[in-house]
Amino acid sequence: MEKQHIYYFDNNATSRVAEEVAREMEPFFHDLYANPSSMHFFGGSLQIYLDTARQRVADLLGARPEEIIFTSCGTESDSTAIYSALRSQPGKKHFITTQVEHPAVLTVAKNLEKQGYRVTRLPVDAEGRLNLDDLKQAITADTALVSMMWANNETGVVFPVEEAARIAHSRGVLFHTDAVQAAGKIPINLSETRIDMLSVSGHKLHAPKGIGVLYVRKGTPFTPFLIGGHQEDGRRAGTENVPYIVGLGKAAELARKHIELENTQVRELRDRLEAGLTAAVPGTKVNGRGAERLPNTLSICFEYIEGESILLMLSEKGICASSGSACTSGSLEPSHVLRAMKVPQTYAHGSIRLSLSIYNTREEVDYVIKEFPAIVEKLRAISPFADGKPLFGAGDGHHH
Ligand code: PLP
Repeated sequence: MEKQHIYYFDNNATSRVAEEVAREMEPFFHDLYANPSSMHFFGGSLQIYLDTARQRVADLLGARPEEIIFTSCGTESDSTAIYSALRSQPGKKHFITTQVEHPAVLTVAKNLEKQGYRVTRLPVDAEGRLNLDDLKQAITADTALVSMMWANNETGVVFPVEEAARIAHSRGVLFHTDAVQAAGKIPINLSETRIDMLSVSGHKLHAPKGIGVLYVRKGTPFTPFLIGGHQEDGRRAGTENVPYIVGLGKAAELARKHIELENTQVRELRDRLEAGLTAAVPGTKVNGRGAERLPNTLSICFEYIEGESILLMLSEKGICASSGSACTSGSLEPSHVLRAMKVPQTYAHGSIRLSLSIYNTREEVDYVIKEFPAIVEKLRAISPFADGKPLFGAGDGHHH
């Protein structure tokens, strides 16, 4: 039987492990299995591989190797950064973030409120952009930390984190950014910023799932999240995940080389997809089109239909994408990101995210453009909403 081609347009969910990365990891599942903390020659012989990986990640971020801490994932990096900033400044009880962060930050924020912290969630406009005046006004003498994502996972909208970090810094407030979606897609040079902490996840940049990085600027107060052994210079306990660290190092080296491709080839393909879909299908809306966006991400709404139905029909055609919904208390709601952007009700339910990588081809993009109109037509034909009748409840066009 012929293997079905996978049209993979879900790279913001996870990306394929690069062949070069898998190859680099291979020996560490076989001969090179020692614990790098062991006193014997075998353990010691692994140190060089950890050092190389740390240097490669530092080079991708414009950081120093001693500022790189390996973690298990982006989520751990986010939690570590936020709790560290708060524990290091026990007198300060205010945390600033945004309405459109990943749950890895928003769920921590909710938890902090239960523990007595005050949380400010900065709003965004209809294009998903922040107003930095809101940040300036939110900072008080009680503010311990600002955590603001570099790029949004759903829309790809890029936040002005470097400027935001300068603002926070000038007021004596620590600054963390979740750069899980930004790393490898847009240039990052931390040496030129006032960013104190930054999170990266391996599986978004062609390393495996289950490895991440937290950058902590030299001199930043730091309290570990995982405590135990002395690994990572006492900043993250747990025996080093040598194969995955090595893999992430290789992925970082590749990402640095490929960042130009991301911003030429991948951007052109994304723009081709966006132009093709908006031309071929009536009643679309591109989320964040007026903002600076990642080169690989297209978030697009189709009026009067449901994103989940589109996904299922795309899936039948071998196309992998995501929808902009979140299942909250059993009902499908537009995601918190689209709600924060106040995407009109008739559009918000029909949201699809297509996210590309350097492994996508023009043929794949053209296939998606070719398949889409019939799918949308079919769904609109059976949509109870497409004939002008009110949508989803009250029918005033507003979300309750
Ligand atoms: N932050 C953002 C913006 C993400 O997109 C993701 C991944 O979905 C995460 C954090 C979590 O990363 P991980 O899956 O490595 O925990």
